[in-house]
Amino acid sequence: MAAASVASASLKKGREPEGTDVLADVFRDLLKFTAEHTVIALRNDGKIASWSTAAELMFGLTTDRALGQEFACLYPQAAVDSQTPERDLATALATGNAVSNGTYLRRADGSTFRANVRISPIFDDRGEHIGFIELVQSLDRRPHRLPQHYVNTLAEADLVLGSVHDAIFVQEPSGKLLYANRAGARHFGLEDGETFVRMPIDEISKRLEVFDEEGNQLDTFALLSTLGGKMNLDDGTLFYSRTVSTNETRWVIVRQSRIYDDQGETELVVCVATNVTDSVRSKLSEQALSETTKRLSASLDYETTLRNLADALVPRLADWAAVVCMREGVPRDVQIVSTEVELAERIRESWAKAGDNVFLSPPVAEVFRTGKPVLFENITRQQLEAFASTKAELDVVEQAHVRSMILAPIVVGDRTDGVIIVSTPESKRRYDLGDLDLMTEIGRRAGTAIEHTRLYRNAQLAIRLRNEFLAVAAHELRTPLATLTLQLQSLQAILAKETGDDRDVRLCDRLDKTIRQNRRLTRLIDSLLDVSQVAGGRLELRRSEFDLAELVADVADRLTDDAERAGSKLSFQWSAPCPGYWDADRLGQVVDNLISNAIKYGQKKPIDVTCTCDRAHVCVTVADNGIGIAPENMTRIFERFERAVPETNYGGLGLGLWISREITEAHGGKLEVASTVGQGAVFRLFLPRQRVESAPT
Ligand code: ADP
Repeated sequence: MAAASVASASLKKGREPEGTDVLADVFRDLLKFTAEHTVIALRNDGKIASWSTAAELMFGLTTDRALGQEFACLYPQAAVDSQTPERDLATALATGNAVSNGTYLRRADGSTFRANVRISPIFDDRGEHIGFIELVQSLDRRPHRLPQHYVNTLAEADLVLGSVHDAIFVQEPSGKLLYANRAGARHFGLEDGETFVRMPIDEISKRLEVFDEEGNQLDTFALLSTLGGKMNLDDGTLFYSRTVSTNETRWVIVRQSRIYDDQGETELVVCVATNVTDSVRSKLSEQALSETTKRLSASLDYETTLRNLADALVPRLADWAAVVCMREGVPRDVQIVSTEVELAERIRESWAKAGDNVFLSPPVAEVFRTGKPVLFENITRQQLEAFASTKAELDVVEQAHVRSMILAPIVVGDRTDGVIIVSTPESKRRYDLGDLDLMTEIGRRAGTAIEHTRLYRNAQLAIRLRNEFLAVAAHELRTPLATLTLQLQSLQAILAKETGDDRDVRLCDRLDKTIRQNRRLTRLIDSLLDVSQVAGGRLELRRSEFDLAELVADVADRLTDDAERAGSKLSFQWSAPCPGYWDADRLGQVVDNLISNAIKYGQKKPIDVTCTCDRAHVCVTVADNGIGIAPENMTRIFERFERAVPETNYGGLGLGLWISREITEAHGGKLEVASTVGQGAVFRLFLPRQRVESAPT
């Protein structure tokens, strides 16, 4: 066939003589070759103007990609380097005759094959040079058609494979598809394997979207044409795919095995795609849920929890995510996270400008109203517009290149407290119903977590109010108590002057008791005041230098009467003076607490108090032989309001040890206990003698 005459024939029919584009039209219609032969039309500058579809298979390159490329790209690098292709064109043009060659050509995947090439120049009616025709005959010894024995085998096998659930494909190493069973054809939205095999590979490619495990879209054409050759799927590779015509989605593991010829070269590649949608979905959901739950339970702070929720969604489940929560009926608490930091910032800024209500755009408001999740599988521009109230906002939303979106309610009981918005960009896979279920569950868990933060916040508030109340109440009680104390002291002074018959023993006795109760009352009220101070972090130490042994002796002396009255003998021993730099009032309070407890829980048995010191430390021990403390209570009793005795038997607020420990630790010391139930308890107070700078004061 004379290519030049084909071109001139079409020109004579009166088509627009627009240079080489004419060639493209003519050859697209006319050229139908077998896989061994192909025709390539080149422009006069050597760029590919058109080719027969068989060339796609021969070179592993789609027509779309080939057109406009230098024809030298079809040659191996060595030929390009030595400028053989250009020289052939130049010779053909100079002589006006065809140049024939036996040469190597190159496929898109880099492999080469032998071919006979014939390049002819073509001219239009006026003798103008408009391009070249290159005829290629592949001498590739690999068969392009399925050998007869395989045809028979596959035909027989199809009787069985046709009804197999897995998708099965047979390809040549070059990527040419030879067989697909019914399940395989259905992945491409086709009813049977024969239609599938007859279809050009670029047309088939458009029928299926393929994504990797991370959801990034892959080039289906490249994948199909290299599946048999380059890709190593021997161990199985996980893909997500979507059939364009039916919108069906699935997770598949693709494995391949090879059939070798007599020379040990790969002759056929068999690919099996097993549908693993259910197991992958449940594994991915499980992972996503456990990761989200972990993040949700990481904090009890409301804002941090919202932030953690948004962070848990990106990038695992979304490329950008927003969490919108209601406060006092207004969607205020909003977190926006994106894989692109700048984009998140722009969305935040643009929405912040528009005020709170922008988060109540109609689609979001709808979820708040109905409590039902919404899936925008393939979001349209019109749907996207509903999210933005101004052109500027729409611009920002558009920059996110959203392909797919889910709006899931954050549900607390039967109330919708917030909405989670997740989206994927165009380069990623679309959300499907499985993702909708997952996001709905995440919304439910987020609701529970957010409710916990609210309860915690309320509890914290209640504690703060209690502490404030205690502080005020203790303060108010102290004023009349101070007056009462003064009155009692002056009464005592008056009675002390009376001697002999004038002295009313019963009155003195009652006054003593009243003074003791007054002291107890003062201590209790002081404890209440301490609670609010210590809990509010307002425990201030007023340090001075003094001898701790002396201070302990004073306290022990003061409490000797109380011990006697309780039936215990209180003894105090110290080895030497123990001077140091502490808060005398506060440490007096600690020692008072420890000895008072020993009296209270000492069961009328002896109590021994000691004070010892070395160069760096001082140690005060208070040992009783009373009821003792069970091992499980040893830690607890140092907590606020914690007690390990029945209230009916022993009075107390459960604050003494807590305050004592706080004071001790503020001095950089520690307070410990050792005890055996029924045999008594030993409390040890250790204090550094020098001021510990790092200790909180
Ligand atoms: P309170 O004595 O007012 O209950 P504390 O904070 O001083 O509060 O003590 C907390 C708890 O520790 C007490 O309720 C008691 O169960 C236990 N406890 C303290 N000291 C002793 C002790 N010496 N022997 C036995 N139990 C003690």
